[in-house]
Amino acid sequence: MTFFVPSHSRPERLVTSNVFGMTTSAAVPTGSEGAITARGAVTERLVEANRRYAEAFTDPGMDARPVLHVAVVACMDARLDLHAALGLELGDCHTIRNAGGVVTDDVIRSLTISQHKLGTRSIVLIHHTNCGLEALTEDFRTELEMEVGQRPAWAVESFRDVDQDVRQSMQRVRTSPFLLHTDNVRGFVFDVRTGLLREIDPS
Ligand SMILES: [Zn+2]
Repeated sequence: MTFFVPSHSRPERLVTSNVFGMTTSAAVPTGSEGAITARGAVTERLVEANRRYAEAFTDPGMDARPVLHVAVVACMDARLDLHAALGLELGDCHTIRNAGGVVTDDVIRSLTISQHKLGTRSIVLIHHTNCGLEALTEDFRTELEMEVGQRPAWAVESFRDVDQDVRQSMQRVRTSPFLLHTDNVRGFVFDVRTGLLREIDPS
């Protein structure tokens, strides 16, 4: 699988990767497009950025409990900047992300700890337009089995109707026996072209 496919439709300073149709992009310094494909080069760039970050960092003395008592479950899509899109600041919320923003058992695990041990009381679910999971089917598990000789235990959680997928995620949260607060759950679709959220009626 190729993680970094140079794009010809993007500005020069952008490198685009395409993983199963989920297109992501990141600004890189001019001239480093070749270097960034080298093994470890991306990580080095991140580590270097962290050194600069730490130089300016001061301990905010925060409690681990989210200030807004909210947990946000969202797709991992690189076009979705959760903090910017929702006006969130450091310390405001728990952020739980995976492919699709699907409420899997592991998301329930995180939400359970979030509510029982860290005081969150509301949940916001965010899926989005043009999600890579729309291009997949459960056949992907069979393809993997053919390729590596082992069938994954997890479901792909692909979908065709994003609204229905949000409803299903809301339902999984509401019916979980492990969560303390299941009444304040709202689901949205983020439009990657306009930046706007559209709320989904749970019924
Ligand atoms: Zn997505």
